Amino acid sequence: MKIGLVLATQLLLAGGCFAQHPSTLFMRTMYRESNKNYFANKLPQNPKIIWVYGLKNDKGEALFAETFCDGEEGSLICTIKLDAQNNAAPSTAVMSMYHEQCHIKLWGKALQVHGHEFQSCMKDLANLDAFQDVW
Ligand SMILES: [Zn+2]
Repeated sequence: MKIGLVLATQLLLAGGCFAQHPSTLFMRTMYRESNKNYFANKLPQNPKIIWVYGLKNDKGEALFAETFCDGEEGSLICTIKLDAQNNAAPSTAVMSMYHEQCHIKLWGKALQVHGHEFQSCMKDLANLDAFQDVW
């Protein structure tokens, strides 16, 4: 409840201050809070967060976000790319970040990129009310 209210306030601030897309600082803070609250702080502490334009997969389909990690479990180094236009709304950017955090949690472990393990991760977030203010 408390976490939800804080996020709601941050969403309002982010929406009010940034016409283009939320700030990198906003996303970094949200990532850190989510890591602490929903992932037992087990995700990498400081992934690189980059805003890009026209993010696409190798089939040419538009993407909201994309993550790549390198290194060993426990010391992964990750880069999260967020599409600036598709994530212009702060609530969308937050949902994209949760999605990418599930990819990071399962990096090198899941059989399919959006398979059962991934779906379970997102459902766990929903059950913990992570999406209370964003869906
Ligand atoms: Zn994905």
